[in-house]
Amino acid sequence: RKWVYRFGDGAADGTADMRELLGGKGANLAEMCNLGLPVPPGFTITTDVCNFYDRNGRTYPDGLDREVTGALEAVGEQVGARFGDPAHPLLVSVRSGAPASMPGMMDTVLNLGLNDETVEGLASKAGDRRFAFDSYRRFIQMYSDVVLGVDHGLFEEALETYKERNGFTLDTELGAEDWQTVIESYKAIVAEEQDQPFPQDVHEQLWGAIGAVFGSWQNPRAVTYRTLHDIPDHWGTAVNVQAMVFGNMGDTSATGVAFTRNPSTGEKELYGEFLVNAQGEDVVAGIRTPQSITEAARIDSKSEMPSLEAVMPGPFKELTAIYERLEAHYRDMQDLEFTIQEGKLWMLQTRSGKRTTRAALKIAVDMVDEGLISKEVALGRIKPSSLDQLLHPTLDPEADREVLATGLPASPGAASGEIVFDSDEAEHLRSLGRKVLLVRVETSPEDIHGMHAAEGILTTRGGMTSHAAVVARGMGKPCVSGAGGVRVDYAKEELVAAGTTLRKGDIVTIDGSTGQVMRGAVPTIKPELSGDFAKLMGWADEVRRLKVRANAETPTDARTAREFGAEGIGLCRTEHMFFDEDRIVSVREMILADTEAGRREALQKILPMQRADFVELFEIMGGLPVTIRLLDPPLHEFLPHSDEEIAQVAKGLGADPEVLRARVGELKEFNPMLGHRGVRLAITYPEIAEMQARAIFEAAIEAAERTGSPVTPEVMVPLVATRAELDMTKERIVQVAERVQAETGKALTYLIGTMIELPRACLRAGDIAETAEFFSFGTNDLTQTTFGISRDDSARFLSDYTAKGILETDPFVSIDREGVGELVQIAAERGRAQRADIKLGICGEHGGDPASIRFCEEIGLDYVSCSPFRVPIARLAAAQAVA
Ligand code: ADP
Ligand code: MG
Ligand code: MG
Repeated sequence: RKWVYRFGDGAADGTADMRELLGGKGANLAEMCNLGLPVPPGFTITTDVCNFYDRNGRTYPDGLDREVTGALEAVGEQVGARFGDPAHPLLVSVRSGAPASMPGMMDTVLNLGLNDETVEGLASKAGDRRFAFDSYRRFIQMYSDVVLGVDHGLFEEALETYKERNGFTLDTELGAEDWQTVIESYKAIVAEEQDQPFPQDVHEQLWGAIGAVFGSWQNPRAVTYRTLHDIPDHWGTAVNVQAMVFGNMGDTSATGVAFTRNPSTGEKELYGEFLVNAQGEDVVAGIRTPQSITEAARIDSKSEMPSLEAVMPGPFKELTAIYERLEAHYRDMQDLEFTIQEGKLWMLQTRSGKRTTRAALKIAVDMVDEGLISKEVALGRIKPSSLDQLLHPTLDPEADREVLATGLPASPGAASGEIVFDSDEAEHLRSLGRKVLLVRVETSPEDIHGMHAAEGILTTRGGMTSHAAVVARGMGKPCVSGAGGVRVDYAKEELVAAGTTLRKGDIVTIDGSTGQVMRGAVPTIKPELSGDFAKLMGWADEVRRLKVRANAETPTDARTAREFGAEGIGLCRTEHMFFDEDRIVSVREMILADTEAGRREALQKILPMQRADFVELFEIMGGLPVTIRLLDPPLHEFLPHSDEEIAQVAKGLGADPEVLRARVGELKEFNPMLGHRGVRLAITYPEIAEMQARAIFEAAIEAAERTGSPVTPEVMVPLVATRAELDMTKERIVQVAERVQAETGKALTYLIGTMIELPRACLRAGDIAETAEFFSFGTNDLTQTTFGISRDDSARFLSDYTAKGILETDPFVSIDREGVGELVQIAAERGRAQRADIKLGICGEHGGDPASIRFCEEIGLDYVSCSPFRVPIARLAAAQAVA
């Protein structure tokens, strides 16, 4: 087997589709070489080696050594140098690169191959001693930090001390001798910390760096990132060893990063940042403020610093040509890393760029218009769950805002929360249900968990491509970076901005679209759902087969659902209508009544209110199907519980508190979710179901008259286990329908069906379908009853199950295909066998989960129903499920 893949000089062993073996970085470096782009030569050690290394006690497969040596010689030949040669030293970078991009997770070592001898060779070859020693000090610091584990703070301190003593402020002011002195102090630090000198043997350096990259696959940060992003452990990382090119060779050299389209807005423009006389890390580290690539962007950002376009027109032109080439080739927005050495442009990386959801939409739609991709590909480019970002509110432009500072609009959206300065604390407060805003000078991979926990992120240093900005965009979190006007004091846990001091816990709002930082919580408004969003959703609607409905019972929810494109209501939970203040009294009277007559009297009072609710709902839905579920929860839920409440409610009802207390006691159940609820209520108290049926039918007639479009209500009986339960209840409902028709002289069309949420109902679905005209799978309860796991108590232990790999995902979030899924499938098959045209849908959390939606598509259900805010997600997921 081959462990090493070479690239360079317009050819490569690998290609872009070998990312599993070569990692994303290696595969794309190979591809760029094949395209004839200027890429420094190098080679990739495969992910197979990483797996070998992990499984064999950190050792390497036989033959790797030989392959590496051979590849290294070939690289040296191409650049006219040799690894470790004092006169013509080859320097390399050692870079990690996993199959999925893991920004900042793995560490890169630059300038490897330098030692006390080769640094002299580099100096005379470049004719520049300052440059050589600048490279050497960078190498010692980076290598010591990444490979040897020496705290980089020690080096920074030593450098600061030197600068202070000698009256320097900027690194660029230091000359060759200065760096030589600094290097001696660096070496002393290493010797002190490691009890042995900094390695002078270049081969020891190389293998040390390779081992560090492979070892970093298992570092806690990388492991956390993989868990959060569902990246399997066994993928491993590749190692790229590549000839160095130097952006730090004076004023005709530079290094930068660029996106082929704006990653925040999706606008088609070369967008990025660079620094003159610098090396890679400097741009993202936020040490110096980077400059714009294009003149247009410089003017936009009102920067005084010249653009790349202005200072290096030649390389800029070449970069523009390459970016067009890469976009056309990859047919996607690319994120590029480049270095200019003495006026010559070198490409160091390309990958499909991370972007905000807004940008992703615009880019997908634009690329279809440009003829680069098909509509289907465009649909596949958007992660359904990411749409969530667009559906949520932005800052109300009319609202008062006290702007404390303005930073860079690093990741759009508005967020408010209590400020915290520490990621662990952010995570802790979040677990208590608090909304927090993470404020840091800059973030690093150690802050990932805090960023996850936070509503938004604010940094005082760093550009649009800083760690905070890149990670926040990936997470879809609002972020303002580089807010230089904010001063953070970690020790005092406070920040000062515009003369105001805010402490930990004070509320701040950030707007990641403008970069503004505001005091307090600024009100927000609903998002605009037109333009690219509407266009892409239109394509999704053309493609998908599954219908999408919403779970809604309030007029607001129903309107939202329609705005988001719902094609009906799949679940209207009538109990929500029982809780409103004006009717809970009558509901309680009904529950307290000793006799059927007493109950009917109370129900009479509820009827008009319930009917009015349904009329409004039917009107809003304008003839679209509406599924109404009869009362489901145990009656106990409607009664007060504490002594105090009981006394108060009794007073309001004019009842004896003791009688009320006794009734509360009587209705108490050990396990109410498996108790007297669902159809069981209709069996004991058919008058409740009758009242509800009457309200539904009368409302259907009234709404049809008002709107002129016929209403076909779907009456749904919950928690049925046997056909007999449904038969009995259906008979009552049908009788009510006949009476209403007789009374009004109007004809009714309606369906009566059931919620399938018990394993027995799934198995007996054939029987039940003789009576039921539709099934709606209530997969929340079905999951609960299939696993025998209480949904309300599962949080305490289900995370152990997923952590230990017993369950892949929480079955309440994503449907358990094997168990619950099989029951659903059995029910669907048996139901259809009995009644060919039976309508089949799913409601509950799974109806808005893309993976579950895919399952619903596979087994051919008719529709999914989810919460109104998830309707667009479901529409897109349903379209993707077809492909
Ligand atoms: P990351 O995956 O964190 O982006 P990279 O491996 O891309 O890390 O390296 C970070 C930066 O180091 C690059 O953007 C580039 O500027 C610089 N770099 C890497 N390899 C080389 C090289 N061979 N020559 C010059 N600079 C390099
Ligand atoms: Mg990179
Ligand atoms: Mg249920």
